[in-house]
Amino acid sequence: MSSKDECQSFEIGIRKRIALVAHDNKKSELIEWVKRNHDQLIQHELHATGTTGSLIEAVLGIPVIKYKSGPLGGDQQLGAKIAEQSIDMLIFIADPLEAQPHDSDIRALTRLASVWNIPMACNLSTADFLLTSPYMINTYKRIVPTFEHYLKRNIKIN
Ligand code: PGA
Repeated sequence: MSSKDECQSFEIGIRKRIALVAHDNKKSELIEWVKRNHDQLIQHELHATGTTGSLIEAVLGIPVIKYKSGPLGGDQQLGAKIAEQSIDMLIFIADPLEAQPHDSDIRALTRLASVWNIPMACNLSTADFLLTSPYMINTYKRIVPTFEHYLKRNIKIN
């Protein structure tokens, strides 16, 4: 990105809007992580796919903004929120050892996190690094291409 016209920025506030998702075989690991990070997580606005969100609510005792269960469209709903700039961070603990019926939705969600330069953890080590980042207690300017070139592409219709 060389010129100002080629990029835009979005501010991530101090109170982050964090989306959390875990596949069934990974839910207990995520819940243990959530318990360990209770004091920090309750300071943020949490979003989650349906089942993951209910489990997090039960252990944190704070409301979580819940979407449909992942395989029923929840991952797609979170992806739409990312495209609308309504999510600041994604913690997606996927099961690498089992095929998922909604694999295309999972790829769509992580792809949109890449498109919009959302901090994204796909395992708990990375989630630890994210949560201990100095940016967690500060604002952060998220730089994203304007996609000007893409938007101005010339499509010829015969
Ligand atoms: P769930 O969805 O939280 O409703 O189980 C997670 C997923 O499999 O994407």
